[in-house]
Amino acid sequence: MISEGSKLIVNGLTHVGQIREHNEDYIDWDVSRGLIILADGMGGHNAGEVASALAVNSIKDALYEVLNPENPVEDLDNMDVVRQAIVYANDEINRHAAEHPTCAGMGTTIVVSLFNEQSVVFGHVGDSRIYRFRDNKLQQVTTDHSLVQEMVDNGFLTEEEALQSNSRNLITRALGIGDVVDIDVSQDTIQVGDIYLYCSDGLTDLVTDQEISAILVDTKGHAEVAAQQLVDLANEKGGKDNISVILASLNEAYSDSVGLEDSSTGIILEKGEDDE
Ligand code: CA
Repeated sequence: MISEGSKLIVNGLTHVGQIREHNEDYIDWDVSRGLIILADGMGGHNAGEVASALAVNSIKDALYEVLNPENPVEDLDNMDVVRQAIVYANDEINRHAAEHPTCAGMGTTIVVSLFNEQSVVFGHVGDSRIYRFRDNKLQQVTTDHSLVQEMVDNGFLTEEEALQSNSRNLITRALGIGDVVDIDVSQDTIQVGDIYLYCSDGLTDLVTDQEISAILVDTKGHAEVAAQQLVDLANEKGGKDNISVILASLNEAYSDSVGLEDSSTGIILEKGEDDE
């Protein structure tokens, strides 16, 4: 089989929006390790900012511990790795809050992806989302841990009613609200051409799935342009909350045209020579 190898190209933007004074979202990624993380913090006295940054940085610390390229661990189970990293982040947030009274009660959502050559692992807690855009179809791969989602699941609200609900921002799970955290972890195979979207509710409360889809189609996989258009649209529609978007494209076409020194882009998925 002849393959150029798949390239993971990541672009992300976070914006304070039109109403809030602070941005409590936090995003980061590391293309060399196939890692993408987004967090949406909450808490008084700017503690939301502390929670989201701490969550993201704790997860990076935990993953770097086990994903050391110079000391690879054999038979690593990425689902387990992601789950353990999120548990560690929860512990770190709780520990920090216990030591800093102004941070008491802080919490954060989290979404994490860890890519390897064939697959991607998703881990999440809260109502920040991951979508997969494949064959021009947008599919949400996470299920919100929110009150309205529970009401939909139990038949008390339709999907349409949920979109209008005033309770949309009430989440049922978060990091930092208990010693034990219930984490959803799943795995999916990847295909060249896939685009994965990571976002906070500041996007999805204002921009519909149809609008997201249309932007991804119109921008033909140009993630940087698409990310900007998504954030701009949320701001045009009121920007009620902080807006964060990360787009990860699995694309061969970018490989020759993208400067790999740029911190926002690079190669992760170099397939080796064909096995004989
Ligand atoms: Ca938010």
